[in-house]
Amino acid sequence: MAGEPQADCLFCKIVSGEVPATVVRETDTTVAFRDINPQAPTHVLVIPKVHYPDAVSLAAAEPRIAADVLVETGAVAAHEKIDGTGYRVVFNTGSGAGQTVFHTHAHVLGGRGLNWPPG
Ligand code: IMP
Repeated sequence: MAGEPQADCLFCKIVSGEVPATVVRETDTTVAFRDINPQAPTHVLVIPKVHYPDAVSLAAAEPRIAADVLVETGAVAAHEKIDGTGYRVVFNTGSGAGQTVFHTHAHVLGGRGLNWPPG
């Protein structure tokens, strides 16, 4: 069923605790944890506990939870003290854009200068 945990999904396993992660914050609907391969001094992933492959499919099916994910990116930025200087929120969507884990996740990046356009 849509949104249900998927047996072969790494981030569903982080939600369940089967795979360990360095959790920064958790809410009823989201988990935020440090990226295992950080691309900036702060690099945290915010995921919904429900399984949808990308941000757009989550927003279409569960708009309130999609909003929770976005609000939580701001809470992470405040927690990491990068909200004053600026930070970037990225949803890689599709393999051509670099998405490798097909469970919705927002990258929260900060703590260094961030160039535009991104690579
Ligand atoms: P994507 O490339 O946008 O799909 O982002 C997936 C992110 O998950 C990458 O930045 C990876 O470094 C990160 N990642 C993969 N496995 C783990 C893990 O076990 N813990 C934390 N982050 C992970």
